[in-house]
Amino acid sequence: MKVAPRFGTGHRILVTGGAGFVPSHLVDRLVERGCTVVVLDNFVTGSKDNVAHLLDKPTFTLVEADISDGLPQHPAMAERFDAILHMASPASPTDFEKLPVEILRVGSVATLALLERATDDGARFLMASTSEAYGDPKEHPQRETYWGNVNPIGIRSVYDEAKRFSEAATMAYHRSRGTDTAIVRIFNTYGPRMRPDDGRAIPTFISQALRGEPITVHGTGDQTRSICYVDDLVRGILLLLDSTETGPINCGTEHEMSMRQLAETIVSLTGSTSEVSYITRASDDPEMRRPDLTLARELLGYEPSVTPEDGLRRTIEYFRGRLGY
Ligand code: NAD
Ligand code: UDP
Repeated sequence: MKVAPRFGTGHRILVTGGAGFVPSHLVDRLVERGCTVVVLDNFVTGSKDNVAHLLDKPTFTLVEADISDGLPQHPAMAERFDAILHMASPASPTDFEKLPVEILRVGSVATLALLERATDDGARFLMASTSEAYGDPKEHPQRETYWGNVNPIGIRSVYDEAKRFSEAATMAYHRSRGTDTAIVRIFNTYGPRMRPDDGRAIPTFISQALRGEPITVHGTGDQTRSICYVDDLVRGILLLLDSTETGPINCGTEHEMSMRQLAETIVSLTGSTSEVSYITRASDDPEMRRPDLTLARELLGYEPSVTPEDGLRRTIEYFRGRLGY
């Protein structure tokens, strides 16, 4: 079933973390549709460069603000919003140790403040959750009904539990205050505007391959992920935004591969001379991950279309430009 767009010309949309990798692509699509978009970002893991091309547009406002203590006072925040997309959060496992409290606050204090605002405004609230809500899953592929296997005190818990808290808060506002809410569980997504030093597997492997450095695969490299090109993910998020579905709904692809396969594919696509080197693996690292996309297909008409080879080629081109190769 095709879902008609609910948000377009004249609608005011607030996007937290809008200068980040995924959210900046989302912002591009919303601005193209004619929405008036306000971005709140403190650039902790994002960059003004990702939205620099939008800065002179009258329908776009970038507000530099840390939302971990609540929402900022700013003229752009005065008028009512039609939709609020909570996309802000550091998302790379390397940040889980560097920014633990920041991650907890943006996934709790900020979520509550945004839910209050969405409720007051009568806005649709969309929460960017994650496949990490399933932890190291015992069910494969993961359906939305699976409750997950998360270590509540492990290194990853600051991220996993903050997102699980955000999901609980979103459902609590929906049930008790009638807030119009949606939760998307995002699976591993990659593409242009990721930072080469972000620490996640794809930007790390591509940077290493382009520099001719060893590709650092953690452990044996048998652990799997299902990788999604950013354009496919953004289409899915917009389908959910435009619908009246509450979710949670998985979004990603079924292109599951081991990290060893991923490293070998990137070496081959870059034509690199890099060797694969196997190094220590972090604790609680999930063994396998693949979304069950039945709900996304049936409720939203979602279908990812970019193959891993195609998406990785496009990402490699972006990194060649960024790294000057
Ligand atoms: P990203 O780091 O590029 O984007 C996050 C943005 O949030 C950055 O611009 C950052 O500066 C901003 N931010 C963080 N804390 C903030 C704060 N306190 N105040 C204001 N801004 C703040 O990461 P991304 O990969 O684009 O992820 C975007 C969202 O999608 C995140 O919520 C993440 O949890 C979720 N997600 C992403 C993936 C993925 O594979 N990329 C997977 C699952 C979930
Ligand atoms: N990984 C790796 N080498 C790296 C970075 C990550 O082998 O330099 C592994 C990591 O241990 C995990 C997988 O790749 O098993 C995906 O990691 P990523 O950080 O991209 O995403 P997430 O763990 O959040 O799925």
